[in-house]
Amino acid sequence: MTEVAAPPADKLDQKVVPINHWIGGRRVAGRSGRNGPVYNPASGRQTGAVDFASVEEVGEAVATAKAAFPGWRATSLSKRAEIMFRIRSLFHEHREDIARILTAEHGKVLTDALGEVARGLEVVEFACGIPQLLKGEYSEQASTGIDVYSIRQPVGVVAGITPFNFPAMVPMWMFAPALACGNAFVLKPSEKDPSASVYLAELLQEAGIPDGVFNVVHGDKVAVDALLEHPDVGAVSFVGSTPVAQYIYRTATGHGKRCQALAGAKNHMVVLPDADIDMAADAAVSAGYGSAGERCMAISMVVAVGHAAEPLIEAIKQRIPKIKVGDGMQPDVEMGPLITREHRDRVASFIEKAPSEGASVVVDGRENAPDGDGFFLAPTLIDETKPGMAVYDEEIFGPVLGITRVETYDEALALVNENPFGNGTAIFTRDGGVARQFQFDVQAGMVGVNVPIPVPVAYYSFGGWKNSLFGDTHIYGPEGITFYTRGKVVTSRWPDPATSKVDLGFPQTR
Ligand code: NAD
Repeated sequence: MTEVAAPPADKLDQKVVPINHWIGGRRVAGRSGRNGPVYNPASGRQTGAVDFASVEEVGEAVATAKAAFPGWRATSLSKRAEIMFRIRSLFHEHREDIARILTAEHGKVLTDALGEVARGLEVVEFACGIPQLLKGEYSEQASTGIDVYSIRQPVGVVAGITPFNFPAMVPMWMFAPALACGNAFVLKPSEKDPSASVYLAELLQEAGIPDGVFNVVHGDKVAVDALLEHPDVGAVSFVGSTPVAQYIYRTATGHGKRCQALAGAKNHMVVLPDADIDMAADAAVSAGYGSAGERCMAISMVVAVGHAAEPLIEAIKQRIPKIKVGDGMQPDVEMGPLITREHRDRVASFIEKAPSEGASVVVDGRENAPDGDGFFLAPTLIDETKPGMAVYDEEIFGPVLGITRVETYDEALALVNENPFGNGTAIFTRDGGVARQFQFDVQAGMVGVNVPIPVPVAYYSFGGWKNSLFGDTHIYGPEGITFYTRGKVVTSRWPDPATSKVDLGFPQTR
């Protein structure tokens, strides 16, 4: 394989390495003169400088993708499937290299990084079935001598704009179905942890993706806007925060593109009095503090119903001191740092503010964070939170678990449904009837029954409701295939001299 763009993770801390674009099957150094710092969040040291693309550089990537598109879309389905299978093998073979790059730049612990790769790989596996997924429909004799059939064709050049919290999995959610469908792809990964995307690009090349079919441009709003406004980009997938998602959706659709923009979250976990309290506490702690709470499917609010509250809070409190916080490269560490110093300080500011809003800080993560220059904050538990408080209303995106107490199931349901976000939610109960009613009534795109992080498997699609998604289609799974293809219906008649005549009437089917 070609030389690996990202250096081995143990070298990432030695010096500041340049992180370049990937255009036309090779690393391309940025020419804009602008770049951004990349840190190892566990040490607080700058390890990389990522190029920020200019409008012209984005234009070059799009032009390269456009030139590569006709050859790729004409590549047979079986050949494309074969390449997807090879991608699957290579990603699996190199999963530990990918995971180490993720931990070095994002901070999540290695086992969690391996989990991210595994969940991304499931989407690649789904895309291996592309010949079956693109099968159309056929109606023989729709009218006399006339057959009608439907086909799905790739959109062309499509773009993906991705967040910092899943630097490998979220790009895979997008490029695996997009490439399998025959599109050419331009990825704009997060500027905070960009190395994984270039490493994946090299593996895609080794697997047989032709040069120019997959490209990476790094950067900030300049690069994003250039993609959103480029006339040759046909579709935009975005995953990130709600204000940016709204902007992306408005701008992309305003420029005539199809767009799916997945956004922020405030996921509530409802615990009913009949729930298994230990199981619910394990789930709340795992889903609240895993990946330092930097998951869009993290549980950030536990809604304790009736007498569930006291034993549940006690059980969560007991579990918190046992969580080992530190450098995610260390095998015994369970929770790593936050992505940047600024983000850590922002998360800490919610803890600072909570008492003045009327909430009660039960465990304060500022007191137990590891020493050093890393961007650490330990798990925090805040009781008595309510709508109207910043700690309740805003997406904190850190290891801060809020508790809100209500008396009835109906009050709990109302809290979830009145929340402006609608990504994931969960209910913990032993009562199947109530769980079924919750699934029926709740206003969220992904629902867990005694499952705290209900990320759908790859053959379903992922997406929220309300302010958690802008656009019509969810991402990956069957809706991913729909998003990355356009439908075409063919009505066909072969000349039959026996039935041919002039008829100026509107075509009838009966
Ligand atoms: P972000 O919105 O700050 O950034 C996402 C992408 O948009 C990045 O590539 C970034 O460079 C770009 N960007 C940022 N500001 C921009 C601007 N003003 N104009 C144009 N582009 C801009 O998000 P983040 O901090 O990287 O990721 C965390 C957020 O992503 C959280 O809100 C989280 O809930 C959300 N998220 C959602 C999902 C989901 O599936 N719904 C999944 C993962 C993360």
